[in-house]
Amino acid sequence: MTQRISAKSILHKTKRRDSWFLDDYTLNPYSSCSFNCLYCYTRGSKYGINMEEKLSVKENAVELLDKQLTLRARKQQYGIIVLSSATDPYLHIEASEKLTRQLLEVILHHRFPVHVLTKSDLVVRDFDLLKAIDKQAILPVDLQDKLTHKAFLSFSFSTIDDAVGHIFEPGATAPSARLSAITQARARGLHCGVSLMPLLPFISDTTAQLDLMFQTFQALDISYIFPATLTLHGNDITDSKTLVLRAIAKHYPDLLPRYQHYFAVDSQMPAYYRKAFSKKMQELCHEYQLPNTLFDR
Ligand code: SF4
Repeated sequence: MTQRISAKSILHKTKRRDSWFLDDYTLNPYSSCSFNCLYCYTRGSKYGINMEEKLSVKENAVELLDKQLTLRARKQQYGIIVLSSATDPYLHIEASEKLTRQLLEVILHHRFPVHVLTKSDLVVRDFDLLKAIDKQAILPVDLQDKLTHKAFLSFSFSTIDDAVGHIFEPGATAPSARLSAITQARARGLHCGVSLMPLLPFISDTTAQLDLMFQTFQALDISYIFPATLTLHGNDITDSKTLVLRAIAKHYPDLLPRYQHYFAVDSQMPAYYRKAFSKKMQELCHEYQLPNTLFDR
């Protein structure tokens, strides 16, 4: 049975706006995440191995958001709301709960811009609201001459291969369904891009896979792309490093020594790898004319 909790606050002001996501505020309708990505940064003892077991609906979210946005709008504190930073706003449960949809209605009412990040095609249901927000929202003053759009929709991928996705994102909608949702988003004229966070070393960041991904995304007419490499934390049984290394041992045993070596002492891939990764991404973004920014160009 789904757990329900009462949140103290639902809209969180960020300390600093991220240069990619442009988040002034974050909003998480759910606590924990049933998509259960092995590499998820929210993993760890708080949610356990199966994050779905800890999934909770924030039952007072709509009322709280309305109160918080009323105050922010009164003070003209318009800013981009990222939905979501620590869960997915379109978990399977959202199909019946419709909580994210109600929150978007509140956001539209108060005319705040929004950046939706998801691994699900359920967002197609709410394209009407995203279109309306894109038309009616008010950007923060310092972004008004840098952005044309006010609703941004980013689909997140670590791979576009359904079989690989099933290993590393076992609860999420298949990558092929996300690609189809991008087609529908573009057909509706939504400003839409892709977050490749994280690409999986030697699995989805090979030259062949990268070319396939960039070709695919270019053909889908996305507007931006945010690539990043893998970060893993912790040695506890519930931590992302343990879970990813276990999956590598099972499905990619040839890669295990390399993963073990790289993540033995650090949570990130080595500096030389990250430098080469960054250079490669810049080249691909240039070659495929896919900017890695939301800003107008
Ligand atoms: S969809 Fe996002 S929040 Fe949910 S498990 Fe995956 S990475 Fe974590």
